[in-house]
Amino acid sequence: MSVGATETLDPAGTPGTPGTPGTDGHAVAEGVALTAVLVAAARAIETHRPDALARDPYAEHFVRAVPAAADWPLHPQDVPAGEADPLWGRLGRYFALRTRALDDQLLRAVQLGARQVVLLGAGLDARAYRLDWPSDCALYEIDRPEVLAFKQGVLDGIEARPTTPHRVTVGTDLRTDWAQALTDAGFRPDRPTAWLAEGLLLYLPGTAERELFATVARLSAPGSTLAYEAKLGIESAAVRANPVYTATRDRTGIDLLALFDADPRPDTPADLRAHGWSTTDHTPFEFTRHYGRGPLPEPDDTLAANRWVFAVRP
Ligand code: SAM
Repeated sequence: MSVGATETLDPAGTPGTPGTPGTDGHAVAEGVALTAVLVAAARAIETHRPDALARDPYAEHFVRAVPAAADWPLHPQDVPAGEADPLWGRLGRYFALRTRALDDQLLRAVQLGARQVVLLGAGLDARAYRLDWPSDCALYEIDRPEVLAFKQGVLDGIEARPTTPHRVTVGTDLRTDWAQALTDAGFRPDRPTAWLAEGLLLYLPGTAERELFATVARLSAPGSTLAYEAKLGIESAAVRANPVYTATRDRTGIDLLALFDADPRPDTPADLRAHGWSTTDHTPFEFTRHYGRGPLPEPDDTLAANRWVFAVRP
């Protein structure tokens, strides 16, 4: 298949169609798919902050289309405790900070010459619509078919237009051999690529995570970059009892700790270095300082183990 604007391939290779089963909000109403809606709600709230780290005008449309999220806030005025609210304040602002830091990272990779961007576990990421891409930059979004079908239905409903003519969605499971689906969709392994795995890896079994990194390395021409979020080590019982986790579970029904895969996390920076990549890793708090706003450390912090890793294949 040639690269084309907003085409969705399901594993059978048929285009996704708005209005077909799976495009309504029930398709993302539970399990890990609902975590994509959680992040979208955080971005919707952030969009209306006067000091927004990132603005995503599409985010609230996704949330509104999901009956399970009908009572979630979409505006800072719906969050009376502000940043002290563990879910929509602290975790929400973390998602906003992550969005901004990774926006900047991807745009930097494109400035340096990448003309392919691949969003692994793209969820309701609207970067193809809200960031400025060079007209020859292809943007691939990979997620499960039902998530991408829902997303496309919402975007079509508001007549959204991507800022690149080369947006391609690839509906597949990242625990399977997704490389074939990506190359069938027009991806070129001989061109430098900016890869992103944002909010994805914790949901994958350790073997699938390792496989995913090996595939990224195999498909990456020199000059490619990879940015991803990881968690170091296992969180203590005190951290697991943090209100960020309990409030998310009690108020949205999303039990993040139950959704995270129980496998030990592989040492992916070491794996990448073994493939010849260079890596740097950063705490979110470095970016709070850099942008002048965002979450700060707290006792028994759910964010303390989070790292954003930036890797480059020379
Ligand atoms: N990257 C997006 C963002 O930050 O807004 C979405 C993050 S959301 C927390 C996690 C996403 O990973 C969901 O959209 C989910 O469908 C996707 N995901 C999890 N496991 C997956 C798998 N095995 N194959 C494809 N997508 C997967």
